[in-house]
Amino acid sequence: MTFNNLIAGEWVGGNASENRSPSDTNDVVGLYAQGTPDDMRAAIAAAKAAFPAWSRSGILERHAILKKTGDEILARKEELGTLLAREEGKTLPEAIGETIRAAQIFDFFAGECLRLAGESLPSVRPGIGVEITREPIGPIGLITPWNFPIAIPAWKIAPALCYGNTVVLKPAELVPGCAWAIADILHRAGLPKGVFNLVMGKGSVIGQVMLDSPDLAGISFTGSVGTGKRVALSSIEHGRKYQLEMGGKNPFVILDDADLSVAVEASLNSCFFSTGQRCTASSRLIVTEGIHDRFVAALVERLKSVTVDNALKAGTHIGPVVDERQLMQDIDYIDIGRSEGAKLAFGGERLNRETPGFYLQPALFTEASNQMRISREEIFGPVASVIRVKNYEEALSVANDTPFGLSSGIATTSLKHATHFRRNAEAGMVMVNLPTAGVDFHVPFGGRKGSSFGPREQGRYAAEFFTTVKTQYTLA
Ligand code: ADP
Repeated sequence: MTFNNLIAGEWVGGNASENRSPSDTNDVVGLYAQGTPDDMRAAIAAAKAAFPAWSRSGILERHAILKKTGDEILARKEELGTLLAREEGKTLPEAIGETIRAAQIFDFFAGECLRLAGESLPSVRPGIGVEITREPIGPIGLITPWNFPIAIPAWKIAPALCYGNTVVLKPAELVPGCAWAIADILHRAGLPKGVFNLVMGKGSVIGQVMLDSPDLAGISFTGSVGTGKRVALSSIEHGRKYQLEMGGKNPFVILDDADLSVAVEASLNSCFFSTGQRCTASSRLIVTEGIHDRFVAALVERLKSVTVDNALKAGTHIGPVVDERQLMQDIDYIDIGRSEGAKLAFGGERLNRETPGFYLQPALFTEASNQMRISREEIFGPVASVIRVKNYEEALSVANDTPFGLSSGIATTSLKHATHFRRNAEAGMVMVNLPTAGVDFHVPFGGRKGSSFGPREQGRYAAEFFTTVKTQYTLA
């Protein structure tokens, strides 16, 4: 069976491409249609045509469809989690967890449909009333990356539909399966034709058609800095709203007074779980001198007990890298780290497992400086560096010395330092004695500096991007 694109309520076929598992390159997950530029144009036209009616649809209809979608995702969490683990390579428990999160996001926004509120104020001019309302912005393009194949589409689709917008989704080439599953569920949940459209295929071809379209009122993008810049430039050209979530080079600070096991477990999780392929992953462990050697020894010891293997296998802690290109990029950076003078304290070797896949032993560098390329550029793999610092002040300054600002963490038992760090970390999210990655679905997500642009995603803050405000004056 070929999984087709959903355009104007119809499943549209075309050339199909194989989706293979990074855990086992002999495992074909499915054949997925590759959209053409005309498919993308038709999808945008469908979203535009469907907008007037959907923007005026009843809140109960929206609530019911989003609720049904969340319920079905939750009921099928094992099956969809397995699909996710197969196509992306994160471990089955991680993939099921992400699937549950997608269900929770649909459920949250199903609830938000029933809580759309405005404000009513008296005017400064007597006898006049002022009402402030939020309205949908129009047809919206969503461009998503491969690292969270079900949660990121969910956290863009659910608020877009909740607030009355129509959608065209362009998922990442490597993970069409989860996006198709959401499209199928939304379609069967009774969404009117054209309200949600799915076009799978190459970013440089059909994604570009989306960027070049004058008919979209907004684009919400998660992906690389380079593509994010294209989204921004094209959006300025077309005068539309845009929202960007891009890279990170997230610091995790470990102070002398940290609880060693908290610091080690949080570092292991931050740097290496989900194969380090999270924009909130840490790749800079900034460690004060008093605990440095003990911390490094304990983390290396802990890494020895970590199993890298097929994502579907019970007992796997870290799945494969997502594809050959990303694996080569990770290995290149490991070579760069060595040639820059950092010391490889653990791992970094390509591994062979029972099934042919892109397996990489997590790599930990020590004696790194914050000026090295491995400390400045996003690697997006299981590669992290330890940077030794004298004290808290130096740690904070190194933590903030980066072009990015998504997430920032600290391990400490000092209330003074934890409080100071929370106030002074230049990041959208700050974690105390917790991994830099791993966030809730009902609160804002996003960063500063080169990591993000535009309003936050998720929780009620999502309304900032997916609605526009109207101020209405009425003479009583
Ligand atoms: P990564 O390097 O993580 O794959 P990308 O920014 O290339 O990051 O990909 C993120 C998303 O952007 C994917 O869905 C991809 O297909 C899409 N994309 C890539 N190039 C373009 C482009 N020129 N126009 C629109 N979307 C694109």
